[in-house]
Amino acid sequence: SSVFENVEPGHPVEMNLLIKRYMEDKNENKVNLSIGVYRTEEGKSYVLPFVKQVEKEIVNDPNLNYDYQPILGTDSFFNIATQLLLGEDSIHIRNKNAFGLQALSGTGGLRSGAEFLARIMGYTTFYYSDPSWENHPNIFNAAGFTNEKTYRYFDRKTFGLDFDGMIEDLQNAPEKAVIILQICGHNPCAVDPTKEQWMKIADVIEEKKLFPFFDAAYHGFGTGDLDEDVFPVRYFADRRIEFFCSQSFAKNFGIYNIRCGALTVFTNDPSKISAILSQMTLRIYFLYETPPACGPRIVSRILQNANLKKQWIDTLKIMTARITRMRQKFQDEMIRLKTPGKWDYITKHRGMFAFTGITPEQAEILVDKYHIYVLKCGRINICGITDENLSYVTKSIHEVVS
Ligand code: PLP
Repeated sequence: SSVFENVEPGHPVEMNLLIKRYMEDKNENKVNLSIGVYRTEEGKSYVLPFVKQVEKEIVNDPNLNYDYQPILGTDSFFNIATQLLLGEDSIHIRNKNAFGLQALSGTGGLRSGAEFLARIMGYTTFYYSDPSWENHPNIFNAAGFTNEKTYRYFDRKTFGLDFDGMIEDLQNAPEKAVIILQICGHNPCAVDPTKEQWMKIADVIEEKKLFPFFDAAYHGFGTGDLDEDVFPVRYFADRRIEFFCSQSFAKNFGIYNIRCGALTVFTNDPSKISAILSQMTLRIYFLYETPPACGPRIVSRILQNANLKKQWIDTLKIMTARITRMRQKFQDEMIRLKTPGKWDYITKHRGMFAFTGITPEQAEILVDKYHIYVLKCGRINICGITDENLSYVTKSIHEVVS
């Protein structure tokens, strides 16, 4: 007998299953369009060259040790992370309205922030876009939120933003509802609000006393310009609308498995910072005690060195340019093939993804029969397409959708 005899399996994590199946798949035509990871022209994982070089320097430093880090991370790291978000000479940082803390990548930033909002602030309701990254509701529910809601976001007719629907849903949200907002390169639908739309979103959030929680998972991949991509965060700060923002360095530094991120808090009342930090310290202490050091060491070293920072910015531009080029090629090919459905929006979308309108049944056929790994929601990762597999991918989608 076993104390575990009544344990039943939980629901499968679709991404996990697909990755496993992809790795075991022996078919030479297999293509992975599922996971949100940058891929090179050759369809390979990409280690940014200066990241590896910096890591080597860190590891070879005779003074390196593996002592515990402070619970909130080091000052130098989160100052850098917050500066990246709000600007190096941000008045909000100087005036101590904004401060950061280290997080276990973007997921950890969302979780620690949500823990604080649920358990310390007593907030119960959160809203995420329809559709959104599937883990948003899991993270907030696990953190103690009890009322899960969505706001309209993707318009399945135009393949653009359902802005009126979004505004209407936000207007009907109760006071103190937490609104999860992806800053750019929206996962999964690749549609971002325009600056004017962000301004209206800010109006409603301010008027209805909602709490914005920004998710900056794809910073740099929206427009290819780091400053442009953080427009909503800086705009809300300039309007003194208080918020949290979770930053991930997984995608823009290509350090997915190092788990490096930050949570920035923007408050109008700097006198409350020490209380907020103290409560955050406890939340993180209860969750995982202290954060890892490797990621912040790499990110800080790159962002503190002008030459390395420039290399990083240039590399981000090269990565986004490759995605833009593949978007165009994919769109042209689908239109050339006269595949049923709407395809002319692909180049209007931003970030790594395209939301194709592929149905769950079609996605299953693509995986089972064509070895093309696509999420059931129809999201594809444009980075998974290369010059070599473009024709196979587009023809296969054409056959399945026709
Ligand atoms: N937010 C969004 C929208 C994401 O797509 C992801 C990862 O795919 C994350 C957050 C979490 O990223 P991380 O790997 O940094 O935890």
